[in-house]
Amino acid sequence: IDKLKQSLSKTRESFSEKFDNILKFNKKIDEKTFEELEELLISADVGVSTTQMLIEKLKENSKKITAAEELKSVLKEEIIDLFPKENISLTYPTVMLIVGVNGVGKTTSIGKLANIYKNQGKKVILAAADTFRAAAIDQLEIWGQRVGVDVIKHQEGADPASVLFDALQAGKARKADLIICDTAGRLHTKKNLMEELKKLYRVCQKEYPQANVVSLIVLDATTGQNALIQAKMFKEAVDFSGIILTKLDGTAKGGIVIAIASELGIPVWYIGIGEGINDLHEFNSQDFVDAIFA
Ligand code: GDP
Repeated sequence: IDKLKQSLSKTRESFSEKFDNILKFNKKIDEKTFEELEELLISADVGVSTTQMLIEKLKENSKKITAAEELKSVLKEEIIDLFPKENISLTYPTVMLIVGVNGVGKTTSIGKLANIYKNQGKKVILAAADTFRAAAIDQLEIWGQRVGVDVIKHQEGADPASVLFDALQAGKARKADLIICDTAGRLHTKKNLMEELKKLYRVCQKEYPQANVVSLIVLDATTGQNALIQAKMFKEAVDFSGIILTKLDGTAKGGIVIAIASELGIPVWYIGIGEGINDLHEFNSQDFVDAIFA
């Protein structure tokens, strides 16, 4: 939690400090207080519609609020209520399809995920199915070596489905618990993306029907509202099980987590708070809200 607090320091500045200022200069809670709060939330990337919803709810509750400090705790509770309640629950064997545009931190997150599950005693295999970029295959291989898990790869330009096919065979033969599959981040159209992912699903169902398939989308928090736009586009093509939100460290745009939760209704499974192998953490809405209002 300390590491989380430290990583979210910029988001906290744009939240907590401004929030405290609003309270300090508003002796009584009135329309002006709410206007200032609205401005604060939007500037912290919470998004217009989510902000308006939060402000409406705050107004409804404001009659019960007497001390300014209560406004903070009511807002915290309201934000926590926005997050989908499901926790990560995997049944093994699982195939994780990892989706996201280039540069968001997909490969790094796969490496970190492999490390998390390996440390839990799971046998993990990585599938280098982002065959568009030779660099992506190499990167995944480096992570595989670092973590100490096998990487199934083909040459650049190979069919992603055939890489996954091989990874599934390897998974069955080596009794893997988890097969984490990288996918191409360069997709021309939504239709293209949908077809590609459907194909990967089909391969799983046909070749490894016992395995549970989950799909996770990786989003870069530093892109703020663009992450939300990206997620909405992807969501039209795929039903995601969860989100990995990267680069929350060093950005003031951490409020995007709140917008994503409320506007997409997809649970945030993991957050990336650094480049190191241990810098991926299970998301906990209470810890997050405590960290930005600390
Ligand atoms: P990909 O193209 O989506 O596979 O992206 P990469 O995994 O290669 O990551 C792109 C850059 O973002 C790399 O320099 C990573 O070290 C960095 N990165 C990934 N996740 C995080 C994170 O949570 N925090 C920070 N600060 N950097 C990250």
